[in-house]
Amino acid sequence: MTSARSPHSLPLNGMQKHRDITVSRIQSFLAGNHQFADVGLASALVESRYSDAVCLSVFAVPNVQRIPFSEAIKGKFSPVKVGHVLEPVWSTHWFNVKIKIPSALAGKEVDLVFDPGCEGLIWSTDGEPLMGITGANNGDRHVDFRLSSKASGKETLEFYIEVSCNGMFGAGAGGNGSIQPPEASRKYTLQTCELRANNKLAREVQRDLDVIFSIGQETPKDSQTSSDAIYAANAVVNAFRYDDLGTLEECKRITTEFLAARANTGYAQHVITAVGNCHIDTAWLWPYDETKRKCARSWATQCGLLEEYDEYTFAASQAQQFEWTEQLYPKLFERIKRHAKTGRFIPIGGTWVEMDCNIPSGEALCRQFLYGQRYFEKTFGERSKVFWLPDTFGYSCQLPQIIHDADMKYFFTQKLSWNNINKFPHTSFMWTGLDGTSVLTHFSPVDTYTSQATVRDVVFAVQNNKDKSYSNKSLLLYGNGDGGGGPLVAMLERLRRMSRVEGLPAVVKMDTPNAFYEDLEKTSKDLVTWKGELYLEFHRGTYTSHARVKQFNRSSELLLRKIEILSALCLASGAKDYKHPKEELDRLWKLCLLNQFHDVLPGSSIGMVYVDAIKFYEDIATRGAMLAEAALRKLIDVSGSGSNVSGTSSNGSVVFNPLSWTRPVQVIEIPLAISNAASFRQLSACGTKGLQLIGPVPGYALEKSLFDQSAQATALSVHMSDETVVVSNEHLVLTLNKCGRILSLLDRTANDREAIAPGFAGNIFRLYEDIPLFWDAWDVEVYHLEKGWDAGVGTLSLVENGPLRIVLEVKHPLTPTSTLTQKIILCTGSKRVEFENHVVWNENRRILKVEFPVNVDNDSATYETQFGFIRRPTHYNTSWDLARFEVCAHKWVDLSECGYGVALLNESKYGFAVHNNVISMSILRAPKAPDANCDIGEHNFSYALYPHKGSLTESDVVQAAYEFNVPLIAGIPAIPADFPPCQFFKVDTANLVLDTVKVAEDGDALVLRLYESCGGRGAAKLSIHPKLGIDSAHFCNVLEDVQSAADITGGVLTIPFTPFKIISIKVMLKARA
Ligand SMILES: [Zn+2]
Repeated sequence: MTSARSPHSLPLNGMQKHRDITVSRIQSFLAGNHQFADVGLASALVESRYSDAVCLSVFAVPNVQRIPFSEAIKGKFSPVKVGHVLEPVWSTHWFNVKIKIPSALAGKEVDLVFDPGCEGLIWSTDGEPLMGITGANNGDRHVDFRLSSKASGKETLEFYIEVSCNGMFGAGAGGNGSIQPPEASRKYTLQTCELRANNKLAREVQRDLDVIFSIGQETPKDSQTSSDAIYAANAVVNAFRYDDLGTLEECKRITTEFLAARANTGYAQHVITAVGNCHIDTAWLWPYDETKRKCARSWATQCGLLEEYDEYTFAASQAQQFEWTEQLYPKLFERIKRHAKTGRFIPIGGTWVEMDCNIPSGEALCRQFLYGQRYFEKTFGERSKVFWLPDTFGYSCQLPQIIHDADMKYFFTQKLSWNNINKFPHTSFMWTGLDGTSVLTHFSPVDTYTSQATVRDVVFAVQNNKDKSYSNKSLLLYGNGDGGGGPLVAMLERLRRMSRVEGLPAVVKMDTPNAFYEDLEKTSKDLVTWKGELYLEFHRGTYTSHARVKQFNRSSELLLRKIEILSALCLASGAKDYKHPKEELDRLWKLCLLNQFHDVLPGSSIGMVYVDAIKFYEDIATRGAMLAEAALRKLIDVSGSGSNVSGTSSNGSVVFNPLSWTRPVQVIEIPLAISNAASFRQLSACGTKGLQLIGPVPGYALEKSLFDQSAQATALSVHMSDETVVVSNEHLVLTLNKCGRILSLLDRTANDREAIAPGFAGNIFRLYEDIPLFWDAWDVEVYHLEKGWDAGVGTLSLVENGPLRIVLEVKHPLTPTSTLTQKIILCTGSKRVEFENHVVWNENRRILKVEFPVNVDNDSATYETQFGFIRRPTHYNTSWDLARFEVCAHKWVDLSECGYGVALLNESKYGFAVHNNVISMSILRAPKAPDANCDIGEHNFSYALYPHKGSLTESDVVQAAYEFNVPLIAGIPAIPADFPPCQFFKVDTANLVLDTVKVAEDGDALVLRLYESCGGRGAAKLSIHPKLGIDSAHFCNVLEDVQSAADITGGVLTIPFTPFKIISIKVMLKARA
């Protein structure tokens, strides 16, 4: 038992202590901002302050530019003082700081305290970032820079401080942490600039007392530990006298005795591994360019802490942030690399950015890992073993397979603790994906990645760990994020003390995430398995917000795919002088991957971010189109070079089918500019395009296709009556009312099967009030379904009337401020009804959906996900079913029953629901924060209704949705009349999709990526045309590491497959003369 001697002569402590009053008293004694701070412990922390010892001048960078150090120091600096106003928001102010340490401070520990009220970075005069600054009035404040731990009192020092006029969380109206749009009139003030001499002993007492008092509060009140801790803390209060700092010796003796008596001696019930981090959103409430500086500020600070605390470990993710730092802050980067070598600055995660995992395509997810892991390996000599994604809005069921295929074993997050309906039941578990691959997964039970490393967090981690029966290990991620600079000294000091005190429900140690997972893997037993997606029951609006970004994401992914296929074929065909545009492709892919960051693609960033994002997408579109065009020309040249060129023909076109199956006969549009009007059977209503019937075209075939003038557009007809319009072709009979609603859709090829639910109409636009509880751009809440109404009904007219295509136009006045113009299209030979839409959108907190009640019943609907599909319930039986009232899907959603089904295809939408028999697609939202103008303006998008025979897996919905998204490449005139056809790849199994054809990252090889799309198994044959000069083939992983040899005989690869397997094959090319 502690012998808490009083420093006084009289035995004052022989009285009963009232626990609650004592606790309040200690709280008051410790608080630095309390009304009694001047007589509490805080009064002892600073020995002296000097403001005259600092000479300040400033250079305000004009035009809100962010300039490099070398340029900044040439600026014109003028003298300033504390109180100087810093504006406008987002501007940069460089301070020159000259310091003369007064002789009175000889022998003292001296700090510079510089608080600009916003963010800053301290630089040495030779241009090395030294430490980040977070000016603030809360616990995130970090403004103390150590000048000397023992001053001589003669030093003269000089620094630069780059001050950025934004807070940790941008500049939202309402202050730090607000998600409102940035406030243009925001100003900051230089609040403090002075030297401080610290009382080290007082600080030690404060840090001890913080932990001891917290132990007293957080352990059970009736335990011996709690009673001892409160007693010791109270004894410190009794020992201290504010005007006799000699009493601190006794205070320190009391705290040391308490802690030493409990130094960790034996078996720990639970072990917590603490890892520092500073989660920096790559863009969010500030633009990308500010993130580059946030990285430098935070990581400079952390390097300082790594140098001071030998046991400290710090993890940082996102290869993109490292690449920025490498390019912009080379000196800091060298310092980071030095610490990375010791294993304490830990690059982690293995991806290019911490991406959204709902919306990116399967291939884009693979590229996140490919670019991330390659960067980490090249730069730090090591790949990451842990897929680190603490903060994304849901995790695709294909991730376990991709994680494993990217040479990783482990997965970390905590985001599902944000679920607002059901509590996720596991902490440490095996997460099993769509194909059966499992990864060891841990959700930090502290339920945050910005823990303050308090006693309370440690206690909560143990209480909240749901798998204690199977493992006694937890991970604690601590440190301020987003410009808070990561862990503060106070956190490290708390952890140090907690690492060697018994009485807490866990021991705490600092270690690496790898060590944590290896230990978890080794020591856990009977871990529970969770199969399928990790659906976040929150932020369901992010499948829809910022529609244009989502559309650009889809089109960029598909454009990059197209360029890669064409340039891979050029290279493998031996096209002379063709240089594979590797660097440019890498650049464009990186832009696409960057925009997939978990606040950009989801639509939850400020407006400024989207200015950059759209600029990047336009870059991809423009440059990408040029690269695709160049590769296509080259491919036609090399493919046609053996032919006997005898004149050209305009009555046809070279076509290329960039999909792996034969496309049926189809109507295509060709710009009139490249062919004459007379050669077309029908012109578009706008008069700029000609229509032709083309096909069928085999998969991955390049061939000349003659326009078939004689083919009859069988049965394409339109009949208009007073009440209805009936449009039909050989497959479908579509009946609409005069408002554009579908009354009936009969499938002629299935005994006139009705696709629309009798008594209901399809293609109905509905508006719902969309006011979430807080997270405006993020959340569409369950109750929105209680308050919806049909949008204004349309008026229909006929704008094209065959022979190849019928187009009806419907004008909908959605609301007094928004309109929708829709083209309903049926082509000859087509099995789908297409809808092309133009919306002028000017709403406030409303969501627009289109709905199709279909004549199909099933307890579950099927949604396309990355490289596969997922089934989800169509009912709200349980709270888990209800929670998925809005879900993410890619190119299609399907509701099928035995023998028949209906799919809804789209080219840019991601938010869907199938409830009972109603398929609904979310089109546009109108949130006002953090971007007040989100989605206001004009939008173009398409979807199609695709009824089909058979259940989903008996149908060709997967293929139909690809065809809707990936047009046949056509309209290439002036080709040799005897152009030889060439099918580069032929896959004999419909459910095995050859999705990606790319040039290998290293060397003259191609990488083919296929996936099994329907949940079946077998062995497929993939024939490769001899023109491609294939030498050998090996199975490889996403990182293109060669694994086993593939069976290739006579140019035919045999590919065994299992359900939803992603299969990558590296095909070596023969050396060409
Ligand atoms: Zn985040």
